[in-house]
Amino acid sequence: MRNIYNFSAGPAVLPEEVLEQARAEMLDWHGSGMSVMEMSHRGKEFMSIADKAESDMRELAAIPANYKILFLQGGASSQFAMVPLNLLGRSGKADYVQTGQWSEKAVGEAKNFGSIHIAASSESDGFNSVPLLAQWRISTDAAYVHYTSNETIGGVEFQWTPDLSAAEGDCKDIPLVADMSSNFLSRPLDVGKFGLIYAGAQKNVGPAGLVVVIIREDLLDVAPLSGIPAMLRYKTHADNASMYNTPPTYAIYIMGLVMEWLKRQGGLVAIEQRNIAKARLIYDLIDGSNFYRCPVNRADRSRMNIPFTLRDPSLDEIFLKLAQTRGLIQLKGHRSVGGMRASIYNAMPLEGVQALANFMQEFEKNHA
Ligand SMILES: *Cc1c(COP(=O)(O)O)cnc(C)c1O
Repeated sequence: MRNIYNFSAGPAVLPEEVLEQARAEMLDWHGSGMSVMEMSHRGKEFMSIADKAESDMRELAAIPANYKILFLQGGASSQFAMVPLNLLGRSGKADYVQTGQWSEKAVGEAKNFGSIHIAASSESDGFNSVPLLAQWRISTDAAYVHYTSNETIGGVEFQWTPDLSAAEGDCKDIPLVADMSSNFLSRPLDVGKFGLIYAGAQKNVGPAGLVVVIIREDLLDVAPLSGIPAMLRYKTHADNASMYNTPPTYAIYIMGLVMEWLKRQGGLVAIEQRNIAKARLIYDLIDGSNFYRCPVNRADRSRMNIPFTLRDPSLDEIFLKLAQTRGLIQLKGHRSVGGMRASIYNAMPLEGVQALANFMQEFEKNHA
């Protein structure tokens, strides 16, 4: 048992059982005489590991057969470019919903490749909420609509899946694209509502170095912008079952162990209930106090990343130092926001969140 609770936003905590299993299998995976790191990615051992990771993910998230699951590299940040490079198509136009720093980065990259329209933004609100679907102004000729389902820095999360057929204008056939890096598999999701989903693994499902892309098959037929490298085409990776080049094998293996762990937890319905309970512990404490404050609109608060400030910011350093002595680490807020941020992904146990809540109460009592 480890004696700290790690609230890092990413790379983030992994389930202890997964790390134990990886340790037990480190030198000799299932009698193969090899570490997973030493295996050929085309050998039968690693192929079975990758196939199992994929089929477990497909089962957990009920991913329909007409979607491909790709295991790629370059992080979610590469997807900021790969999405427009592959999907802008003939119209060369796409719509983006702006809800914070990650969606802004996605917009900034996409602007290098096409004409980008902001369909909705919560900028006027300091990015502390998500714009209601009724406020989205989608261009009918957009090649896709992109949004960020959880803003990791701002702690703003969509508690609903945008249904473009209910949005204003005739846009029901426009593919919906989501950056789910920081809430992927933290709750059930209806993959059929999306054209493409991408998620860096290091927030909620595995180690850094791996990004998961789930793409509806018909989108593989959209002609990518001409002249783009083979490595940046979805079709290259889809046609080669993510083995066009050497994939991030060890990261895929660990993610596979996380999928098995998620299944043992009871799947996404069960993990969602735990995530709701964990988030409520901290938000209830903040809302019941004049000492702590969370700037995010209540309905749009993230279950994964909880930003909060102290009434007196000169106490921030003491808060962080004392928390650390209790084994509560990585609570410092993002450099652009200040204050604190507690990231409580799937693998953060309820006991860790309870320990944080107890510490916050005690700190308030001693410093209010
Ligand atoms: C962390 C994060 C990214 C960037 O991920 P990298 O793997 O570092 O490229 C993008 N989007 C969101 C929502 C994130 O949380």
